[in-house]
Amino acid sequence: MRMSKKEEVIAKESQHYMQVFTREPLVIERGRGAIVSDIDGKDYIDCVAGIAVNNVGHCHPRVVNAIKVQAEKLIHTSNLYYTEIQALLAERMTKLTGLERCYLTNSGAESTESAMKLARRVTGKKGFISTKNAFHGRTMGSLSVTWKETIRQPFEPLIDDVTFVNYGDANAIAGAVTADTAAVIVEPIQGEGGVNVPPDDYLVAVRELCTERDIVLIADEVQTGFARTGKWFACEHANVVPDIMTLAKAMGGGFPVGAMMSRESCQFMPGDHGGTQSGTPLACAAALATIDVIESEDLVEQSRLKGEFLKKLLSDLESPDTVDIRGKGLMVGYELSRPVRSIVDYGRENGVLLNNISENVLRFVPPLVITKEQIETAITVIERAINLHPR
Ligand SMILES: *Cc1c(COP(=O)(O)O)cnc(C)c1O
Repeated sequence: MRMSKKEEVIAKESQHYMQVFTREPLVIERGRGAIVSDIDGKDYIDCVAGIAVNNVGHCHPRVVNAIKVQAEKLIHTSNLYYTEIQALLAERMTKLTGLERCYLTNSGAESTESAMKLARRVTGKKGFISTKNAFHGRTMGSLSVTWKETIRQPFEPLIDDVTFVNYGDANAIAGAVTADTAAVIVEPIQGEGGVNVPPDDYLVAVRELCTERDIVLIADEVQTGFARTGKWFACEHANVVPDIMTLAKAMGGGFPVGAMMSRESCQFMPGDHGGTQSGTPLACAAALATIDVIESEDLVEQSRLKGEFLKKLLSDLESPDTVDIRGKGLMVGYELSRPVRSIVDYGRENGVLLNNISENVLRFVPPLVITKEQIETAITVIERAINLHPR
């Protein structure tokens, strides 16, 4: 029998691509706003957004245009020379974050790496304090401060001077500080760990502690940044300014680009760090356009309002299976008392892309341009899935 286009792609991938990803049986071909279409032309409401990446929606016309225009001018030139667009993006980023220095990267893990190196450089100390269930990336340095044993242990020895403490407990951090602690690295809301929201006073207390003990505070906003939680950056919920902020995911509207922002007092020396394609013109164009869209479409407020709406609909389900509904803005975790795999499968078969972040938790990180009607449709499908597949 002839294979379908979808089966052909999956067969080719299985044969040639490194088998590291557990993928859904779905071949995506295009996207617009909060809708993606598969290779057979079927549409899906996207509640995943490429894992909190497509905040401004798929193929936003302004981002597409900015990439097109820049691609015709200059795609890459290296950091041996200046480009105007890189300087413009750096200026924009410092204004947005309130941090004076910008270093551009190509991914979240690279932002973490940069931050860890910088913390060691400015303090002359070596140790890191991270949190249980933290995720900061999969390269050797960033993996060292990532919690999950199954992805960390096979690659040890990593940086061994890392202490993991309970998330949300500032006293636990205080108890773990030593004379050799360079930095505390923390997500304002844990993403991969399960959409975990800490107590309101947590970041304030961590900030005070770091200031008192002369420790660098690294806020990992790779997932929470760029309006995801109903603020430009999630640290703003607590009015806290970190010493270093790491960014990536949504920054380029889907184009890979990240940043490490830092205070003026927290800087590398010339030659300490670098990257051939870091802050390449095409990435800068995508990021500037993405920032423009977030501003002009007021996506910070949209994220807040639609997040409240989504949480209300989930609680209105009044499902006996509901354990917890948590999150801020359009970063929402829905924990059930049963495995959610069948809900994800049912969603995909019925036009809704969902992500289970662990066995019992669904994570909603849709494009911030998703409409209320699309949210309603998605929740209706989830309700049907819950009722169809009782535990
Ligand atoms: C996704 C993520 C990273 C890693 O980003 P990559 O671009 O996948 O390397 C780091 N920190 C947090 C909080 C993330 O969510």
